[in-house]
Amino acid sequence: MSTQSAALVVDGIGHRFGALRVLHNVNLTLQRGTITAVLGPSGCGKTTLLRIVSGFERPTEGTVTIAGRVVTTAESIVIPPEQRGVTIVPQEGALFPHLSVGGNVGFGLRNRRSTTAKRRVAEVLEMVGLHGMEHRRPAELSGGMQQRVALARALASSPELVLLDEPFAALDLGLREQVRDETCRALRESGATALWVTHDQREALATADRVAVLLDGTIVQSDVPELIYRQPASRAVAEFVGDVVVIDGHVATDGLTVRCAFGQLNLADSHLAGSVFVVIRPEQLEIVDESTLLTTRATVIATKFFGHDGLIEVELHGRERAVIRVQSMNLPERGRDIFVRVNGLVRAF
Ligand code: ATP
Repeated sequence: MSTQSAALVVDGIGHRFGALRVLHNVNLTLQRGTITAVLGPSGCGKTTLLRIVSGFERPTEGTVTIAGRVVTTAESIVIPPEQRGVTIVPQEGALFPHLSVGGNVGFGLRNRRSTTAKRRVAEVLEMVGLHGMEHRRPAELSGGMQQRVALARALASSPELVLLDEPFAALDLGLREQVRDETCRALRESGATALWVTHDQREALATADRVAVLLDGTIVQSDVPELIYRQPASRAVAEFVGDVVVIDGHVATDGLTVRCAFGQLNLADSHLAGSVFVVIRPEQLEIVDESTLLTTRATVIATKFFGHDGLIEVELHGRERAVIRVQSMNLPERGRDIFVRVNGLVRAF
């Protein structure tokens, strides 16, 4: 990826709080006009990374470059936060309660009483679906609307970079998906470059052009969402990004197949040998009516009903366990024996 025209380049960033090493060798490049999600579990250093990018924290190692200008090194904050062209959408809108929606959105604009500023406020409110709401007070809006005002405020100054720090963590599930999709649409319409940190893998996969997985203080894989899910770089990435079945296996001498509790399965990579962990997504497992050479007998241990789909937990040969994703109409009763087939190539680590 070209770093010349990039909106943001994070190069070799490391950070310690005293003896606690939070980040090490973090590398990330964001092309202009794209949305990148940094996905990691709670406490893995996501907020620290955002604080370093925005200029509120100086890293112990590495540099940050925004739109071709080095803004931070380990030695100094070269460009202060307010001159970076970076805006933030925090977890909870953090709107000024005494200002109207228009006052909040226009707060950071130069000459905010000018006709140009007012036009820009109306424009970004339209982008986030709050057309004509300039005169409302934040307290008169729902949580989702307040988050959209915070997004409008972040977009108003046409920044180089918008940072979103778990922006919907405070919203309930139904509303979160709706506001997330609207936010994504508004970011794309505005042409902004966005760095979006989240611990929610569904949110990351659904919103971003690229997902950077932050585990143990470093980015272990950065790719388009589909490849993060289908071609995880490690067992840890596979387990963090979605449900997964992990069973013991042994790679055949040709390196093309692996023997495991599901029989002989075709491998996605051919560089492995010896004992491995076989990693299968639940949707690769299919329940079939009859036993064939490609099926394995399994006993249903438990079922989970989620409404639109469900999970069946099974035991194979009285030892290994696996989960299968099915439509919730098809949940079998506990104790029943079923036949399972594995579809597609499997990964192993
Ligand atoms: P969350 O998803 O829970 O917000 P996070 O991934 O954003 O977590 P950070 O807030 O960056 O993680 O924190 C990473 C680690 O650094 C945590 O162990 C935290 O306790 C520690 N930490 C953060 N800020 C400081 C600080 N100012 N001083 C000391 N330790 C800190």
